[in-house]
Amino acid sequence: MTSNTHVVVIGAGLAGVRLARRLGELGTPALLVGDEEHRPYNRVLLAEVLAGRYAPEVISLPAPGGLVRTRVTGIDRTARQLHCADGSSIAYDTLVLATGSNPVLPPLRGLFTADHQLPEGVHAFRTMDDCLGLSKAVRPGVRAVVIGGGLLGVSAARALAVRGAQVVLAQQAERLMERQLDPNASRLVLRHLLDLGVEVHTECRVRDVRCVGGAVRSVEMADGYALDADLVVLACGVRPRAGLAEQAGLAVRRGVLVDDELRTADPHIHAIGDCAEHDGTVYGLAAPALEQAELLAELLAGAPHARYTGTRALTRLTLTGRASPFDLAAFGETEPRPGDDVVQLADATRGTYRKVVVRDDRLVGGVLVGELGTVGALARAWEGAEPLPDEGSLLHLLTNDGGS
Ligand SMILES: Cc1cc2nc3c(=O)[nH]c(=O)nc-3n(C[C@H](O)[C@H](O)[C@H](O)COP(=O)(O)OP(=O)(O)OC[C@H]3O[C@@H](n4cnc5c(N)ncnc54)[C@H](O)[C@@H]3O)c2cc1C
Repeated sequence: MTSNTHVVVIGAGLAGVRLARRLGELGTPALLVGDEEHRPYNRVLLAEVLAGRYAPEVISLPAPGGLVRTRVTGIDRTARQLHCADGSSIAYDTLVLATGSNPVLPPLRGLFTADHQLPEGVHAFRTMDDCLGLSKAVRPGVRAVVIGGGLLGVSAARALAVRGAQVVLAQQAERLMERQLDPNASRLVLRHLLDLGVEVHTECRVRDVRCVGGAVRSVEMADGYALDADLVVLACGVRPRAGLAEQAGLAVRRGVLVDDELRTADPHIHAIGDCAEHDGTVYGLAAPALEQAELLAELLAGAPHARYTGTRALTRLTLTGRASPFDLAAFGETEPRPGDDVVQLADATRGTYRKVVVRDDRLVGGVLVGELGTVGALARAWEGAEPLPDEGSLLHLLTNDGGS
């Protein structure tokens, strides 16, 4: 069967759904093709589903009109046609790749069974299926090992601990969330996890997954130390899902290369979200994915001058729930260069920490833990990149929470 649609979007994740909705509102309906069997959902909230705070349907995204559930397996650029796993073909005039990321699977011995599957009990943490699989397996007292101490690993460890698992987090780097946070903020995240009963090992490399009868039993560290495990979560980062683009001969570096119109070298094909690389950057975050979707909708609906110039993306982690809520936000450069000014406010008792880095009178980065009342004003000052009027205004930005 061949259907004919003007704009076709591959991927019904955050970027694809936002684009299709905006295009619908602007009078240019699009066909969305997605390979997950669930209703489109907000991936950012999966940890809250795993923690038991939200039921899966609570994080559903408002469904756009035309959604086809199948996996696109090939792009024929000459015929402008997609080939799908269910045998169907879909014609396009304009194609948008919004295929997201794949989890990075670390090179561990024993990670795959003879038929190239992950052993029973070993899960990535990217999709609703991963989340439901983990959720089914977690019970009070279950021994879980989370491999990776970035944003994803920290969220997974916390969610599993809230569900009563005995969690060990193994982090290769010397501290948690080292890509976003400075050492002080990392220490507060560590303290939060320790308070929840999570055992954290830093500078620790896992080298082996041991299984019995196809199910995981333990993981072994590089120094030979073994940890018993009923569950293992792989949280070792993500990689843009760019295979389709590569097979179709489009330029791919880390992600699918796009220009300021979010267009690949083929004028009929665009890319947005985690799979796209713009000006040397693959963001891997929700805010840029949504901003790119909004901008591309404008362009495709006929606004010829819209241009994407990059997103100043704030990383935000909200770990709520019955047990001690914990919030953090980080943006820009959180470590000063020589000559930068730094303002820090720390309250050890309350576990709060605020820090901003200023260069040549401009805010270049900051990190807030435990107290986010000022995050909106700080983010605006950072995004605007306007000179700060004076030092007093900086302190005001850091402390004035608008009365909340
Ligand atoms: C647990 C978790 C927590 C996160 N927390 C945060 C956070 O706190 N803050 C933040 O900014 N970001 C966070 N992220 C990252 C954020 O979710 C992503 O940046 C965002 O989802 C990117 O949107 P996207 O539409 O590009 O990709 P995705 O949301 O991954 O959507 C891509 C979709 O395309 C589908 N697809 C791929 N290939 C095909 C194909 N060939 N055919 C059909 N369909 C296909 C995929 O199955 C998927 O449904 C988190 C991610 C995870 C997994």
